[in-house]
Amino acid sequence: MKIILLGPPGAGKGTQAVNLAQKLKLAHISTGDLLRQNVSGGTDLGKQAKSYMEKGALVPDDLVTQMLQRRIQAQDVKKGFILDGYPRNIAQAKALDAMLKQENAAIDFAVYLEASEPVIIQRLTGRLVCKNCGANFHRKNMPPRVEMMCDKCGGTLYQRTDDNEATIKTRLEVYRKEVSALLQYYEAKRQLHRLNADEDADAVLNEIIRLAAKA
Ligand code: AMP
Repeated sequence: MKIILLGPPGAGKGTQAVNLAQKLKLAHISTGDLLRQNVSGGTDLGKQAKSYMEKGALVPDDLVTQMLQRRIQAQDVKKGFILDGYPRNIAQAKALDAMLKQENAAIDFAVYLEASEPVIIQRLTGRLVCKNCGANFHRKNMPPRVEMMCDKCGGTLYQRTDDNEATIKTRLEVYRKEVSALLQYYEAKRQLHRLNADEDADAVLNEIIRLAAKA
C-alpha cells in the first residue's frame, strides 16, 4: 500500500503519518524529517538544503527527489509507505510516478488534508516534535505527559526553527502557489480523497484507515 498525504503545513500530515504507519505497518517517509536529519548531520545535502528550509522555501526538486529515490529503495519500504511532505509540486508528482513505475508500482491513493488558516497557525506555533522518533505534540492541544519528553519513546522534544509566524507565512504562500495544480493532477487520475483536517485527529485517522481498507 502506497499512500500520499497532501495538505498545508499544520494540517496534521506528520501526526497522521506516524499513526497510520503504525496501524497499517507501513514505512513513514517524511521528506522534511529526512532533510532535517541531513541538516543536523552536516551532510552535503544538508548544507545545500539548510538556507531554503530556514526561509520556508522549497529545497530544489532534484535534491529532494534524489534523496527520496534512495529512501524508497530501502528494505523497510518494500511493504509500502505513507509519504508525508512529497510531492510539493507537479514536477515532484511526476518524478514520483516515474520512480514507482521503474518498479512496476504506483500509489494507491492520495489524501488531501484541508485545514483552515487559524487552525494551522495555532497548531504550528505550539507544535513540539520528538528529536528521536518524530512524533508530534502540542503545548496546549496535546501536551506530553512529562514536560519536553516524548510519551512514545522518551526522546527530547523541540520546537522547529521554521515554526515561527514569519516563516509559517512563507511556507503557506509556497504551498498555496502549488496546491491547486497538484490536486488537479491526482483528481484527474481519480486518486484523490479530501478530508477535513480541522477535525479531531482520531476521526481523520479512522477515515484514512477506512479508505485504505477499500483500496
Ligand atoms: P515539512 O517538514 O514537510 O514541513 O518540511 C520542512 C521544510 O523542508 C520545507 O519548508 C522545505 O524547505 C523542505 N521540504 C520538505 N519536503 C520538501 C519537498 N518535497 N520539496 C522541497 N522542499 C521540501
